[in-house]
Amino acid sequence: MDTIGHFIDGKRVAGTSGRETEVFDPSTGQPTKRLALASKAEIQAAVDAAKAAQPEWAATNPQRRARVFMKYVQLLNDNMQELAELLSSEHGKTVEDSKGDIQRGLEVAEFVIGIPHLQKSEFTEGAGPGIDMYSIRQPLGIGAGITPFNFPAMIPMWMFAPAIACGNAFILKPSERDPSVPMRLAELMMEAGLPKGILQVVNGDKGAVDAILEHPDIAGISFVGSTPIAAHVYAEAARHGKRAQTFGGAKNHMIVMPDADLDQAADALIGAGYGSAGERCMAISVAVPVGEETANALIEKLIPRVEALKIGPYTDSESDFGPVVTKAAKDKILGLVEKGVEEGAKLVVDGRGFNMQGYEDGFFVGACLFDNVTRDMEIYKQEIFGPVLSVVRAKSYEEAFSLPADHEYGNGVAIYTRDGDAARDFASKVPVGMIGVNVPIPTPMAYHSFGGWKRSVFGDLNQHGPDSIKFWTRTKTITSRWPSGIKDGAEFSMPVMR
Ligand code: NAD
Repeated sequence: MDTIGHFIDGKRVAGTSGRETEVFDPSTGQPTKRLALASKAEIQAAVDAAKAAQPEWAATNPQRRARVFMKYVQLLNDNMQELAELLSSEHGKTVEDSKGDIQRGLEVAEFVIGIPHLQKSEFTEGAGPGIDMYSIRQPLGIGAGITPFNFPAMIPMWMFAPAIACGNAFILKPSERDPSVPMRLAELMMEAGLPKGILQVVNGDKGAVDAILEHPDIAGISFVGSTPIAAHVYAEAARHGKRAQTFGGAKNHMIVMPDADLDQAADALIGAGYGSAGERCMAISVAVPVGEETANALIEKLIPRVEALKIGPYTDSESDFGPVVTKAAKDKILGLVEKGVEEGAKLVVDGRGFNMQGYEDGFFVGACLFDNVTRDMEIYKQEIFGPVLSVVRAKSYEEAFSLPADHEYGNGVAIYTRDGDAARDFASKVPVGMIGVNVPIPTPMAYHSFGGWKRSVFGDLNQHGPDSIKFWTRTKTITSRWPSGIKDGAEFSMPVMR
Protein backbone atom coordinates (compact mmCIF):
# COMPACT_ATOMS: atom_id res chain seq x y z
CA MET A 1 0.00 0.00 0.00
CA ASP A 2 1.38 3.47 -0.90
CA THR A 3 2.06 5.92 1.89
CA ILE A 4 1.27 9.57 1.19
CA GLY A 5 3.68 12.00 2.83
CA HIS A 6 3.70 15.78 2.56
CA PHE A 7 4.47 18.40 -0.08
CA ILE A 8 7.19 20.68 1.24
CA ASP A 9 9.54 23.06 -0.56
CA GLY A 10 8.29 22.08 -3.98
CA LYS A 11 8.35 18.30 -3.70
CA ARG A 12 6.76 15.26 -2.12
CA VAL A 13 8.54 14.18 1.04
CA ALA A 14 8.01 11.17 3.28
CA GLY A 15 6.59 11.68 6.76
CA THR A 16 9.02 11.44 9.63
CA SER A 17 6.75 11.48 12.68
CA GLY A 18 6.15 7.72 12.69
CA ARG A 19 2.41 8.38 13.02
CA GLU A 20 0.13 7.25 10.19
CA THR A 21 -3.52 6.65 9.40
CA GLU A 22 -5.39 4.82 6.65
CA VAL A 23 -7.22 6.26 3.65
CA PHE A 24 -10.26 4.23 2.51
CA ASP A 25 -12.20 3.67 -0.68
CA PRO A 26 -15.69 4.30 0.75
CA SER A 27 -17.29 2.13 -1.95
CA THR A 28 -15.44 -1.02 -0.96
CA GLY A 29 -14.86 -0.05 2.67
CA GLN A 30 -11.22 -1.14 2.25
CA PRO A 31 -8.09 0.86 3.09
CA THR A 32 -6.20 1.76 -0.09
CA LYS A 33 -3.34 3.98 1.12
CA ARG A 34 -1.55 5.02 4.24
CA LEU A 35 -1.16 8.66 5.19
CA ALA A 36 1.64 10.20 7.23
CA LEU A 37 0.51 12.52 10.03
CA ALA A 38 2.70 15.58 10.43
CA SER A 39 4.55 16.43 13.60
CA LYS A 40 5.48 19.88 14.87
CA ALA A 41 8.88 19.49 13.18
CA GLU A 42 7.24 18.96 9.80
CA ILE A 43 5.08 22.04 10.23
CA GLN A 44 8.30 23.88 11.07
CA ALA A 45 9.92 22.60 7.85
CA ALA A 46 6.96 23.90 5.85
CA VAL A 47 7.16 27.28 7.60
CA ASP A 48 10.92 27.48 6.97
CA ALA A 49 10.46 26.87 3.25
CA ALA A 50 7.57 29.37 3.13
CA LYS A 51 9.54 32.02 4.94
CA ALA A 52 12.47 31.67 2.56
CA ALA A 53 10.32 31.91 -0.57
CA GLN A 54 7.60 34.43 0.32
CA PRO A 55 9.39 37.81 0.12
CA GLU A 56 10.43 37.25 -3.49
CA TRP A 57 6.96 36.02 -4.43
CA ALA A 58 5.36 39.09 -2.81
CA ALA A 59 7.75 41.28 -4.80
CA THR A 60 6.82 39.53 -8.07
CA ASN A 61 4.64 41.88 -10.08
CA PRO A 62 0.94 40.99 -9.96
CA GLN A 63 0.67 40.23 -13.69
CA ARG A 64 3.29 37.52 -13.30
CA ARG A 65 1.49 36.12 -10.27
CA ALA A 66 -1.70 36.12 -12.37
CA ARG A 67 0.01 34.21 -15.19
CA VAL A 68 0.70 31.29 -12.84
CA PHE A 69 -3.05 31.01 -12.33
CA MET A 70 -3.75 31.27 -16.07
CA LYS A 71 -1.55 28.24 -16.62
CA TYR A 72 -2.99 26.52 -13.56
CA VAL A 73 -6.55 26.81 -14.87
CA GLN A 74 -5.42 25.20 -18.11
CA LEU A 75 -3.69 22.37 -16.22
CA LEU A 76 -6.78 21.73 -14.09
CA ASN A 77 -8.89 21.46 -17.23
CA ASP A 78 -6.33 19.17 -18.89
CA ASN A 79 -6.25 16.90 -15.83
CA MET A 80 -9.94 17.09 -14.92
CA GLN A 81 -10.82 13.43 -15.49
CA GLU A 82 -7.80 12.05 -13.61
CA LEU A 83 -8.36 14.43 -10.69
CA ALA A 84 -12.08 13.65 -10.53
CA GLU A 85 -11.52 9.89 -10.46
CA LEU A 86 -8.87 10.24 -7.77
CA LEU A 87 -11.19 12.44 -5.74
CA SER A 88 -14.09 10.00 -6.05
CA SER A 89 -11.92 7.04 -5.07
CA GLU A 90 -11.28 8.56 -1.63
CA HIS A 91 -14.46 10.59 -1.09
CA GLY A 92 -17.05 8.28 -2.64
CA LYS A 93 -18.99 10.91 -4.61
CA THR A 94 -19.75 10.33 -8.29
CA VAL A 95 -17.13 11.33 -10.87
CA GLU A 96 -19.47 13.98 -12.34
CA ASP A 97 -19.94 15.45 -8.87
CA SER A 98 -16.16 15.43 -8.31
CA LYS A 99 -15.78 17.42 -11.52
CA GLY A 100 -18.14 20.00 -10.01
CA ASP A 101 -15.98 20.04 -6.86
CA ILE A 102 -12.87 20.78 -8.97
CA GLN A 103 -14.70 23.24 -11.21
CA ARG A 104 -15.94 25.37 -8.29
CA GLY A 105 -12.33 25.65 -7.09
CA LEU A 106 -10.98 26.30 -10.58
CA GLU A 107 -13.38 29.24 -10.86
CA VAL A 108 -11.68 30.90 -7.88
CA ALA A 109 -8.34 30.41 -9.65
CA GLU A 110 -9.95 32.16 -12.65
CA PHE A 111 -11.18 34.97 -10.38
CA VAL A 112 -7.70 35.65 -8.98
CA ILE A 113 -6.27 36.06 -12.48
CA GLY A 114 -7.69 39.53 -11.90
CA ILE A 115 -5.24 40.11 -9.04
CA PRO A 116 -3.51 43.10 -10.70
CA HIS A 117 -6.86 44.86 -10.55
CA LEU A 118 -8.16 43.29 -7.32
CA GLN A 119 -5.13 44.29 -5.26
CA LYS A 120 -4.91 47.86 -6.58
CA SER A 121 -4.74 50.52 -3.92
CA GLU A 122 -6.62 53.70 -3.04
CA PHE A 123 -5.11 57.12 -3.50
CA THR A 124 -6.18 60.59 -2.43
CA GLU A 125 -4.37 63.48 -3.95
CA GLY A 126 -4.25 66.58 -1.76
CA ALA A 127 -5.57 65.08 1.50
CA GLY A 128 -3.98 68.17 3.06
CA PRO A 129 -1.73 70.97 1.85
CA GLY A 130 0.88 69.18 -0.25
CA ILE A 131 -0.18 65.88 1.30
CA ASP A 132 -1.13 62.71 -0.57
CA MET A 133 -2.58 59.69 1.15
CA TYR A 134 -2.70 56.15 -0.15
CA SER A 135 -3.61 52.73 1.18
CA ILE A 136 -1.95 49.60 -0.08
CA ARG A 137 -2.84 45.98 0.55
CA GLN A 138 0.19 43.90 1.42
CA PRO A 139 0.21 40.11 1.91
CA LEU A 140 0.14 38.78 5.47
CA GLY A 141 3.24 36.65 4.90
CA ILE A 142 2.33 33.03 5.62
CA GLY A 143 -1.25 31.82 5.67
CA ALA A 144 -2.65 28.39 6.49
CA GLY A 145 -5.81 26.52 5.54
CA ILE A 146 -7.48 23.59 7.28
CA THR A 147 -10.06 21.91 5.11
CA PRO A 148 -12.89 19.35 5.41
CA PHE A 149 -13.32 16.04 3.62
CA ASN A 150 -16.41 16.95 1.64
CA PHE A 151 -14.83 19.27 -0.97
CA PRO A 152 -11.17 18.21 -1.14
CA ALA A 153 -10.51 20.23 -4.32
CA MET A 154 -12.84 23.20 -4.11
CA ILE A 155 -12.21 24.38 -0.55
CA PRO A 156 -8.39 24.18 -0.67
CA MET A 157 -8.51 26.24 -3.89
CA TRP A 158 -10.95 28.74 -2.32
CA MET A 159 -8.23 29.39 0.21
CA PHE A 160 -4.88 29.05 -1.51
CA ALA A 161 -5.76 30.75 -4.80
CA PRO A 162 -6.50 34.19 -3.31
CA ALA A 163 -3.87 33.83 -0.57
CA ILE A 164 -1.11 33.06 -3.08
CA ALA A 165 -2.32 35.53 -5.69
CA CYS A 166 -2.03 38.26 -3.03
CA GLY A 167 1.64 37.37 -2.51
CA ASN A 168 1.43 35.07 0.51
CA ALA A 169 2.97 31.65 1.03
CA PHE A 170 0.38 29.06 2.02
CA ILE A 171 0.35 25.89 4.12
CA LEU A 172 -2.58 23.58 3.49
CA LYS A 173 -3.65 20.95 6.01
CA PRO A 174 -6.26 18.96 4.10
CA SER A 175 -8.69 16.41 5.49
CA GLU A 176 -7.00 13.12 6.34
CA ARG A 177 -9.91 11.28 4.63
CA ASP A 178 -9.10 12.34 1.04
CA PRO A 179 -5.60 13.84 0.81
CA SER A 180 -4.54 12.71 -2.70
CA VAL A 181 -6.21 15.48 -4.70
CA PRO A 182 -4.80 18.29 -2.50
CA MET A 183 -1.33 16.81 -3.12
CA ARG A 184 -1.95 16.80 -6.87
CA LEU A 185 -3.24 20.38 -6.73
CA ALA A 186 0.08 21.45 -5.21
CA GLU A 187 2.05 19.57 -7.88
CA LEU A 188 0.02 21.25 -10.61
CA MET A 189 0.71 24.67 -9.09
CA MET A 190 4.42 23.94 -9.40
CA GLU A 191 3.90 22.86 -13.00
CA ALA A 192 2.09 26.16 -13.58
CA GLY A 193 5.21 28.04 -12.53
CA LEU A 194 4.74 28.70 -8.81
CA PRO A 195 8.10 28.96 -7.02
CA LYS A 196 8.82 26.21 -4.51
CA GLY A 197 7.92 26.98 -0.92
CA ILE A 198 4.86 29.06 -1.78
CA LEU A 199 2.33 26.23 -1.53
CA GLN A 200 2.91 23.33 0.83
CA VAL A 201 0.67 20.51 1.92
CA VAL A 202 1.13 18.99 5.34
CA ASN A 203 -1.08 16.05 6.08
CA GLY A 204 -2.19 15.41 9.59
CA ASP A 205 -4.77 15.52 12.33
CA LYS A 206 -5.30 17.59 15.47
CA GLY A 207 -1.56 17.56 16.20
CA ALA A 208 -0.76 19.32 12.91
CA VAL A 209 -3.62 21.78 13.40
CA ASP A 210 -2.41 22.66 16.90
CA ALA A 211 1.13 23.22 15.60
CA ILE A 212 -0.25 25.56 12.91
CA LEU A 213 -2.37 27.46 15.44
CA GLU A 214 0.57 27.96 17.77
CA HIS A 215 3.18 28.86 15.17
CA PRO A 216 4.22 32.52 15.55
CA ASP A 217 5.11 32.92 11.85
CA ILE A 218 1.69 31.93 10.51
CA ALA A 219 -0.35 35.12 10.34
CA GLY A 220 -3.74 34.05 9.03
CA ILE A 221 -5.87 30.91 9.28
CA SER A 222 -8.79 29.85 7.16
CA PHE A 223 -10.79 26.86 8.37
CA VAL A 224 -13.77 24.96 7.01
CA GLY A 225 -15.28 22.00 8.88
CA SER A 226 -17.68 21.19 11.68
CA THR A 227 -18.88 23.91 14.08
CA PRO A 228 -17.17 22.71 17.29
CA ILE A 229 -13.76 22.59 15.55
CA ALA A 230 -14.44 25.90 13.76
CA ALA A 231 -15.15 27.55 17.13
CA HIS A 232 -12.01 26.00 18.62
CA VAL A 233 -9.79 27.06 15.72
CA TYR A 234 -11.20 30.60 15.81
CA ALA A 235 -10.58 30.98 19.54
CA GLU A 236 -7.10 29.46 19.41
CA ALA A 237 -6.08 31.52 16.38
CA ALA A 238 -7.21 34.69 18.15
CA ARG A 239 -5.42 33.65 21.34
CA HIS A 240 -2.24 33.37 19.30
CA GLY A 241 -2.75 36.77 17.68
CA LYS A 242 -3.73 35.54 14.21
CA ARG A 243 -6.60 36.63 12.02
CA ALA A 244 -9.02 33.82 11.33
CA GLN A 245 -12.10 33.06 9.28
CA THR A 246 -13.66 29.73 10.27
CA PHE A 247 -16.70 28.18 8.66
CA GLY A 248 -18.79 25.53 10.37
CA GLY A 249 -21.81 23.27 9.99
CA ALA A 250 -25.24 23.88 8.56
CA LYS A 251 -28.90 22.96 8.58
CA ASN A 252 -30.34 24.43 5.41
CA HIS A 253 -34.08 24.81 5.00
CA MET A 254 -36.21 25.11 1.90
CA ILE A 255 -39.52 26.90 2.39
CA VAL A 256 -42.13 25.72 -0.10
CA MET A 257 -44.97 28.22 -0.38
CA PRO A 258 -48.47 27.11 -1.50
CA ASP A 259 -48.03 28.92 -4.83
CA ALA A 260 -44.72 27.21 -5.69
CA ASP A 261 -44.30 24.93 -8.69
CA LEU A 262 -44.30 21.70 -6.67
CA ASP A 263 -42.66 19.55 -9.34
CA GLN A 264 -39.83 22.01 -9.58
CA ALA A 265 -39.56 22.16 -5.78
CA ALA A 266 -39.58 18.37 -5.44
CA ASP A 267 -36.87 17.96 -8.10
CA ALA A 268 -34.79 20.65 -6.41
CA LEU A 269 -35.15 18.92 -3.04
CA ILE A 270 -33.98 15.61 -4.47
CA GLY A 271 -30.80 17.10 -5.95
CA ALA A 272 -30.08 19.39 -3.01
CA GLY A 273 -31.00 16.88 -0.32
CA TYR A 274 -29.43 13.70 -1.63
CA GLY A 275 -26.69 14.82 -4.05
CA SER A 276 -23.24 13.82 -2.77
CA ALA A 277 -25.11 11.65 -0.20
CA GLY A 278 -26.11 14.84 1.62
CA GLU A 279 -22.47 15.56 2.48
CA ARG A 280 -22.56 19.21 1.43
CA CYS A 281 -22.60 22.21 3.72
CA MET A 282 -25.14 23.73 1.34
CA ALA A 283 -27.31 20.58 1.14
CA ILE A 284 -30.98 21.12 1.91
CA SER A 285 -31.76 18.92 4.88
CA VAL A 286 -35.12 20.42 5.91
CA ALA A 287 -38.11 21.02 3.64
CA VAL A 288 -40.81 23.31 5.04
CA PRO A 289 -44.06 23.14 3.08
CA VAL A 290 -46.53 25.85 4.09
CA GLY A 291 -50.08 24.56 4.65
CA GLU A 292 -51.45 21.02 4.94
CA GLU A 293 -52.34 20.80 1.25
CA THR A 294 -48.85 21.83 0.12
CA ALA A 295 -47.30 19.36 2.57
CA ASN A 296 -49.43 16.42 1.44
CA ALA A 297 -48.83 17.17 -2.24
CA LEU A 298 -45.08 17.64 -1.71
CA ILE A 299 -44.70 14.37 0.23
CA GLU A 300 -46.63 12.58 -2.52
CA LYS A 301 -44.20 13.91 -5.11
CA LEU A 302 -41.11 13.26 -3.00
CA ILE A 303 -41.72 9.61 -2.06
CA PRO A 304 -41.43 8.08 -5.57
CA ARG A 305 -38.50 10.34 -6.41
CA VAL A 306 -36.60 9.30 -3.26
CA GLU A 307 -37.41 5.63 -3.82
CA ALA A 308 -36.11 5.88 -7.39
CA LEU A 309 -32.69 7.24 -6.39
CA LYS A 310 -29.85 5.11 -7.67
CA ILE A 311 -27.09 4.52 -5.17
CA GLY A 312 -23.81 2.99 -6.28
CA PRO A 313 -20.05 3.15 -6.39
CA TYR A 314 -18.32 6.08 -8.09
CA THR A 315 -17.24 3.76 -10.89
CA ASP A 316 -20.89 3.42 -11.99
CA SER A 317 -21.76 6.46 -14.07
CA GLU A 318 -25.46 5.78 -13.48
CA SER A 319 -25.25 6.39 -9.72
CA ASP A 320 -27.08 9.43 -8.34
CA PHE A 321 -24.96 9.32 -5.23
CA GLY A 322 -22.33 7.13 -3.66
CA PRO A 323 -21.40 5.95 -0.19
CA VAL A 324 -20.71 8.28 2.74
CA VAL A 325 -17.11 8.92 3.64
CA THR A 326 -16.38 6.59 6.57
CA LYS A 327 -17.86 3.78 8.62
CA ALA A 328 -18.12 6.25 11.53
CA ALA A 329 -20.16 8.65 9.35
CA LYS A 330 -22.45 5.81 8.30
CA ASP A 331 -23.00 4.71 11.92
CA LYS A 332 -23.69 8.29 13.03
CA ILE A 333 -26.26 8.84 10.27
CA LEU A 334 -28.04 5.55 10.96
CA GLY A 335 -28.01 6.34 14.69
CA LEU A 336 -29.71 9.67 14.06
CA VAL A 337 -32.33 8.08 11.79
CA GLU A 338 -33.06 5.59 14.59
CA LYS A 339 -33.36 8.50 17.02
CA GLY A 340 -35.80 10.27 14.69
CA VAL A 341 -38.04 7.19 14.63
CA GLU A 342 -37.89 6.96 18.46
CA GLU A 343 -38.78 10.63 18.77
CA GLY A 344 -41.92 10.09 16.71
CA ALA A 345 -41.05 11.43 13.26
CA LYS A 346 -42.62 9.44 10.42
CA LEU A 347 -39.99 7.67 8.30
CA VAL A 348 -41.86 7.55 4.99
CA VAL A 349 -38.87 6.25 3.01
CA ASP A 350 -36.62 3.98 5.06
CA GLY A 351 -33.12 3.53 3.63
CA ARG A 352 -31.68 1.85 6.72
CA GLY A 353 -31.66 -1.63 5.28
CA PHE A 354 -29.95 -0.62 2.02
CA ASN A 355 -27.40 -3.17 0.88
CA MET A 356 -25.16 -2.55 -2.12
CA GLN A 357 -24.70 -5.86 -3.87
CA GLY A 358 -21.04 -6.64 -4.44
CA TYR A 359 -20.02 -3.81 -2.10
CA GLU A 360 -21.27 -5.20 1.20
CA ASP A 361 -18.46 -3.57 3.20
CA GLY A 362 -18.89 -0.15 1.54
CA PHE A 363 -20.17 2.79 3.56
CA PHE A 364 -23.52 3.02 1.77
CA VAL A 365 -26.60 4.54 3.38
CA GLY A 366 -29.98 4.35 1.64
CA ALA A 367 -31.98 7.53 1.08
CA CYS A 368 -34.32 8.37 3.99
CA LEU A 369 -37.28 10.74 4.05
CA PHE A 370 -38.93 11.88 7.28
CA ASP A 371 -42.33 13.54 7.57
CA ASN A 372 -43.81 15.26 10.64
CA VAL A 373 -40.44 16.33 12.02
CA THR A 374 -40.68 18.95 14.78
CA ARG A 375 -38.21 21.55 15.99
CA ASP A 376 -37.50 19.82 19.32
CA MET A 377 -36.23 16.60 17.66
CA GLU A 378 -32.52 15.75 17.43
CA ILE A 379 -32.85 15.06 13.68
CA TYR A 380 -33.99 18.68 13.32
CA LYS A 381 -31.45 20.25 15.65
CA GLN A 382 -28.34 18.36 14.51
CA GLU A 383 -26.55 18.40 11.19
CA ILE A 384 -26.95 14.80 9.93
CA PHE A 385 -24.64 15.15 6.89
CA GLY A 386 -26.14 12.14 5.15
CA PRO A 387 -28.88 11.27 2.62
CA VAL A 388 -31.72 12.17 4.98
CA LEU A 389 -34.34 14.82 4.27
CA SER A 390 -36.73 16.00 7.01
CA VAL A 391 -40.09 17.57 6.28
CA VAL A 392 -41.31 20.04 8.90
CA ARG A 393 -44.89 21.12 8.26
CA ALA A 394 -45.66 24.81 8.86
CA LYS A 395 -49.14 26.32 9.12
CA SER A 396 -48.18 29.79 7.89
CA TYR A 397 -45.40 31.79 6.23
CA GLU A 398 -44.56 33.28 9.65
CA GLU A 399 -44.12 29.84 11.20
CA ALA A 400 -42.02 28.67 8.23
CA PHE A 401 -39.87 31.79 8.44
CA SER A 402 -39.22 31.23 12.15
CA LEU A 403 -37.58 27.83 11.54
CA PRO A 404 -34.40 28.96 9.71
CA ALA A 405 -34.55 32.22 11.69
CA ASP A 406 -34.40 30.43 15.04
CA HIS A 407 -32.00 27.61 14.08
CA GLU A 408 -28.48 27.84 15.49
CA TYR A 409 -27.00 27.48 12.00
CA GLY A 410 -27.41 30.05 9.24
CA ASN A 411 -25.47 28.89 6.20
CA GLY A 412 -27.95 28.68 3.32
CA VAL A 413 -31.73 28.73 2.87
CA ALA A 414 -34.12 28.70 -0.06
CA ILE A 415 -37.69 29.76 -0.74
CA TYR A 416 -39.84 28.36 -3.54
CA THR A 417 -42.68 30.67 -4.50
CA ARG A 418 -44.18 32.63 -7.39
CA ASP A 419 -44.84 35.61 -5.14
CA GLY A 420 -42.15 38.26 -5.54
CA ASP A 421 -43.23 40.07 -2.40
CA ALA A 422 -42.90 36.95 -0.21
CA ALA A 423 -39.51 36.17 -1.74
CA ARG A 424 -38.29 39.72 -1.25
CA ASP A 425 -39.48 39.87 2.36
CA PHE A 426 -37.86 36.51 3.08
CA ALA A 427 -34.52 37.36 1.46
CA SER A 428 -34.37 40.67 3.27
CA LYS A 429 -35.30 39.48 6.77
CA VAL A 430 -34.09 35.93 7.24
CA PRO A 431 -30.88 35.80 9.33
CA VAL A 432 -28.98 33.44 7.02
CA GLY A 433 -25.90 34.16 4.90
CA MET A 434 -26.85 32.73 1.48
CA ILE A 435 -30.40 32.83 0.13
CA GLY A 436 -31.89 31.04 -2.86
CA VAL A 437 -35.09 32.25 -4.49
CA ASN A 438 -36.34 29.26 -6.48
CA VAL A 439 -32.70 28.11 -6.40
CA PRO A 440 -32.00 25.22 -4.04
CA ILE A 441 -28.23 25.57 -3.50
CA PRO A 442 -27.39 29.26 -3.63
CA THR A 443 -23.62 28.86 -3.55
CA PRO A 444 -22.25 32.22 -4.72
CA MET A 445 -19.98 32.34 -7.76
CA ALA A 446 -16.24 32.92 -7.33
CA TYR A 447 -16.50 36.70 -7.80
CA HIS A 448 -19.02 37.03 -4.94
CA SER A 449 -18.23 35.90 -1.41
CA PHE A 450 -19.29 32.67 0.31
CA GLY A 451 -20.22 32.49 3.98
CA GLY A 452 -23.03 31.82 6.42
CA TRP A 453 -24.29 33.54 9.55
CA LYS A 454 -24.75 32.53 13.20
CA ARG A 455 -22.91 29.35 14.27
CA SER A 456 -22.07 28.50 10.66
CA VAL A 457 -19.23 31.01 10.78
CA PHE A 458 -16.79 32.70 13.16
CA GLY A 459 -14.98 35.78 11.90
CA ASP A 460 -16.18 38.43 9.50
CA LEU A 461 -14.66 38.08 6.03
CA ASN A 462 -15.99 35.40 3.71
CA GLN A 463 -14.38 32.93 1.30
CA HIS A 464 -13.44 34.04 -2.25
CA GLY A 465 -14.74 37.14 -4.01
CA PRO A 466 -13.60 40.59 -2.83
CA ASP A 467 -13.62 39.48 0.84
CA SER A 468 -10.83 36.99 0.19
CA ILE A 469 -8.50 39.72 -1.07
CA LYS A 470 -9.16 41.65 2.13
CA PHE A 471 -8.67 38.60 4.31
CA TRP A 472 -5.30 37.64 2.81
CA THR A 473 -3.85 41.15 2.87
CA ARG A 474 -3.42 43.85 5.47
CA THR A 475 -3.84 47.53 4.85
CA LYS A 476 -1.03 49.99 5.11
CA THR A 477 -1.92 53.68 4.78
CA ILE A 478 0.76 56.15 3.84
CA THR A 479 0.48 59.88 4.37
CA SER A 480 3.22 61.66 2.48
CA ARG A 481 4.44 65.18 2.05
CA TRP A 482 7.67 65.99 0.30
CA PRO A 483 10.15 68.42 1.96
CA SER A 484 9.48 71.28 -0.41
CA GLY A 485 5.85 71.08 0.70
CA ILE A 486 6.58 71.71 4.41
CA LYS A 487 5.71 75.36 4.70
CA ASP A 488 5.02 75.67 8.42
CA GLY A 489 6.90 74.64 11.54
CA ALA A 490 6.11 71.82 14.00
CA GLU A 491 2.44 70.93 14.65
CA PHE A 492 1.46 69.89 18.19
CA SER A 493 -2.26 69.26 17.93
CA MET A 494 -4.02 66.34 16.24
CA PRO A 495 -3.85 66.89 12.48
CA VAL A 496 -7.35 67.53 11.13
CA MET A 497 -8.60 68.91 7.85
CA ARG A 498 -11.40 71.44 8.30
P1 NAD B 1 -14.13 18.19 10.68
O1 NAD B 1 -14.45 19.35 11.55
O2 NAD B 1 -14.16 16.84 11.28
O3 NAD B 1 -12.68 18.37 10.03
C1 NAD B 1 -12.28 19.54 9.38
C2 NAD B 1 -10.78 19.70 9.52
O4 NAD B 1 -10.46 19.87 10.90
C3 NAD B 1 -9.98 18.51 9.03
O5 NAD B 1 -8.85 18.98 8.33
C4 NAD B 1 -9.60 17.79 10.30
O6 NAD B 1 -8.36 17.13 10.20
C5 NAD B 1 -9.49 18.91 11.32
N1 NAD B 1 -9.83 18.48 12.68
C6 NAD B 1 -10.69 17.49 13.05
N2 NAD B 1 -10.75 17.40 14.38
C7 NAD B 1 -9.91 18.34 14.87
C8 NAD B 1 -9.56 18.75 16.20
N3 NAD B 1 -10.08 18.16 17.27
N4 NAD B 1 -8.68 19.76 16.33
C9 NAD B 1 -8.16 20.38 15.25
N5 NAD B 1 -8.47 20.03 13.99
C10 NAD B 1 -9.33 19.03 13.79
O7 NAD B 1 -15.13 18.29 9.44
P2 NAD B 1 -15.34 17.24 8.26
O8 NAD B 1 -16.10 16.07 8.79
O9 NAD B 1 -14.10 17.01 7.51
O10 NAD B 1 -16.29 18.09 7.29
C11 NAD B 1 -17.68 18.15 7.43
C12 NAD B 1 -18.14 19.40 8.15
O11 NAD B 1 -17.66 20.56 7.47
C13 NAD B 1 -19.64 19.56 8.19
O12 NAD B 1 -20.01 20.04 9.46
C14 NAD B 1 -19.92 20.60 7.12
O13 NAD B 1 -21.11 21.34 7.29
C15 NAD B 1 -18.74 21.47 7.27
N6 NAD B 1 -18.52 22.27 6.08
C16 NAD B 1 -18.81 23.60 6.15
C17 NAD B 1 -18.64 24.40 5.04
C18 NAD B 1 -18.92 25.86 5.11
O14 NAD B 1 -18.50 26.57 4.21
N7 NAD B 1 -19.58 26.37 6.13
C19 NAD B 1 -18.18 23.84 3.85
C20 NAD B 1 -17.90 22.47 3.81
C21 NAD B 1 -18.07 21.70 4.94
